Amino acid sequence: MENLRVLELYSGIGGMHYALTESGVAAKVVAAVDVNTTANEIYKHNFPNTPLLPKTIEGMTLDDFNKLSFDMILMSPPCQPFTRIGLQGDISDPRTKSFLYILDLLPRLIKLPRFILLENVKGFETSSARDSLVKTLKECGYNYQELMVSPTCLGMPNSRLRYFMIAKAPPGSFSFHTTSEIQEGFPHPADKVLLEPSSPISPSPTTTAYQEEDHKEDEGGILYKLERAQDAERKSSQNRDQSLRQIRVYLEDQGEGEMEQYLLPPKTLLRYALLMDIVRPTCRRSVCFTKGYGHYVEGTGSVLQSCMETDMEAAFRSPECLSDEEKLQQLSRLKLRYFSPREIANLMGFPKHFTIPKNISTKQQYRVLGNSLNVHVVARLIELLVS
Ligand code: SAH
Repeated sequence: MENLRVLELYSGIGGMHYALTESGVAAKVVAAVDVNTTANEIYKHNFPNTPLLPKTIEGMTLDDFNKLSFDMILMSPPCQPFTRIGLQGDISDPRTKSFLYILDLLPRLIKLPRFILLENVKGFETSSARDSLVKTLKECGYNYQELMVSPTCLGMPNSRLRYFMIAKAPPGSFSFHTTSEIQEGFPHPADKVLLEPSSPISPSPTTTAYQEEDHKEDEGGILYKLERAQDAERKSSQNRDQSLRQIRVYLEDQGEGEMEQYLLPPKTLLRYALLMDIVRPTCRRSVCFTKGYGHYVEGTGSVLQSCMETDMEAAFRSPECLSDEEKLQQLSRLKLRYFSPREIANLMGFPKHFTIPKNISTKQQYRVLGNSLNVHVVARLIELLVS
């Protein structure tokens, strides 16, 4: 097959591009479009030969699009209008404008792209933007399937439940049975290909000491503030699920000193310790890393307990009777730290050769990574789309 010509919209740091490469589909990104200068710098650094257009999508004309003569669109429109935390402005949010612009252009293109893949947050499925998308695809005769997939479907210890739309232009049809319902997880006939490709990150030898601890891995015992019994139960059942890999496989093999920069500052420890989602290297779960990670503590991603000698119960024992200093002393023993940007990239399936220029601050790195996607999940979806 000739190389597919791919248009990568809202390209960010290139999660879609990596997924396309990983899918093995013969393809070439003919243009990537994004307005974010930091993301663009990282994209260029990793894909120096891909034409990157640092402009708004609505700043491109129908003619500009036609000239690119693409066969596939990969896109992750801004998700803030649809997130729980965002204001849920949906189509009235100015950030949805560019997406509506694409929908308006699609039927007017000289050549309908054969394949479309869209990624967005959970919440998009109930939006009017989604309804407009479906309406446009139907009008153009596309065959499509909506799905909700999390990397845990591939054995990865990270939750990132996302909405996906995969669509094929007529007369294309899928190799699996499509339904008008949103499918949870990958469709069945493809299950055999659903294993994460031979792990790009091998377990680091320094962390094997954790292995023997495996059997007692459980966070049971303590209920954190705001955590209900069923949350605690869900967490410990995920940690027992052998189909999920342990977090340690994705950790950096760095000396302790190197990772000290990621330790939680005392103020954060004191104020937020009970609200944080804490995992250990032997855990098989972590919560979704979002763009506020490392900056806002609550709900932005898990933190890692890097000292295994102290157990959590001891560290959290009767905090109400302790002075701040004593509390801090107790909590510090856990050596709670943020995952490094590289570790988050690992948990999101980015290949080893993906790198971030040194001048980009840690905060900005968390930001762009939090906006990106799980590469392995999208790679499987591209395979499904094209096969
Ligand atoms: N898939 C990407 C991330 C997408 S996040 C990745 O792997 O990194 C959404 C991106 O859309 C952001 O990078 C943001 O800068 C960009 N964006 C938002 N509105 C845009 C517009 N109107 N035109 C071009 N890019 C836009």
